[in-house]
Amino acid sequence: MTSPGRALFSCASVLLLALQFFLLSGTVRTDAADNAGRNQAGRMSTATLRIGKHANYLRLVFETPEQYVQRASVSLNGANAIKVDFQSPVSFRVPQKEAPKSFVKLEAEASKSVVYEIDRGLKITVEANGCTISIDNLDDINVSKLASPSRLVIDAYISQATTAGSENFSAEAQITAPDASDIKVESFVIDAGHGGYESGVRFGKTVEKDLALSFAKEFSGALLKKGKKVTLTRKGDQTLSLKDRARLVNKKSPDLLVSIHVSSRDEFSAYSLCRTCIKAPGETPVNPAKSIGVDRSEAVAQAIAQSAKGALKISVRTEKLPLRLLSYVHVPAVLIELPSPDKFSYDAKSRERLIVILLQGIAYSATGQVGA
Ligand SMILES: [Zn+2]
Repeated sequence: MTSPGRALFSCASVLLLALQFFLLSGTVRTDAADNAGRNQAGRMSTATLRIGKHANYLRLVFETPEQYVQRASVSLNGANAIKVDFQSPVSFRVPQKEAPKSFVKLEAEASKSVVYEIDRGLKITVEANGCTISIDNLDDINVSKLASPSRLVIDAYISQATTAGSENFSAEAQITAPDASDIKVESFVIDAGHGGYESGVRFGKTVEKDLALSFAKEFSGALLKKGKKVTLTRKGDQTLSLKDRARLVNKKSPDLLVSIHVSSRDEFSAYSLCRTCIKAPGETPVNPAKSIGVDRSEAVAQAIAQSAKGALKISVRTEKLPLRLLSYVHVPAVLIELPSPDKFSYDAKSRERLIVILLQGIAYSATGQVGA
């Protein structure tokens, strides 16, 4: 039921998924000169990190003076990280994400660590005497120390979940994120279903509330990158009633509410509120202001379903239901039920593609065309 691939769906994994490199503290500068392994000022050495990608493993090669290689200790650190300790001050040259043939120099400063994302799901945290490499879906490592040139080689094996991700999607699917200008919705509230005491569906070690939250955060990150305004109903694991959520939504009054849930089934669903459910007590027959929201909600749910149908191999459903949260809010709203993680692989690539499906659907709901 659980695999290392599933374990990545923790709140912490969101950090690994930031699309661009980010720097917490310390020094980063482009370093064109190849001074690999040369002792700088006689004290700090440089380790050049090269990364080779293979089908089910990454080969990390640290080129650095022999005494550093000999002293180096390598250990697994938590679920998805490798700790490399060179036991002496060291700085790193790592390939740039956008231009892998050029390098960035990373150096810890005054005991503060530096974090740099080398590639999607591959992050290096530089400390004074070494570094920690975080890798999505890390399964196991194999370490060797080699000479001429002296180097430390770590093969980092990736769990099958990563490659299994391609099973989720049609091979011919066009999964391209629409441009920001094609998404005619400017402000969002993203609701991560459940939370706190209310766990939702349980999938082995994973629970719906956690999966919904990490996905909601990733989705909101993608929207923020498109320049959209986004509010999350919850950012942590807290209990929140549907009325509390609705109050927040109505106060923010976004162009669209997207509520994220996870199904126990092997299918993707996009729900909107049923027409007869918008009758508030005493209203005959419907609140006209709200019926506009319902039309818009239906259009968004259908467009997202259409985008999902083109891309996913699993079945896709759209339905109008008497969902309480949607009936409490005064703005267009959809509820997305993602497929069960027992049947659908939530590796980094699959999550990214699910987000593109949502973005495409939202763009399509306004233009009437699936943008590619
Ligand atoms: Zn739910």
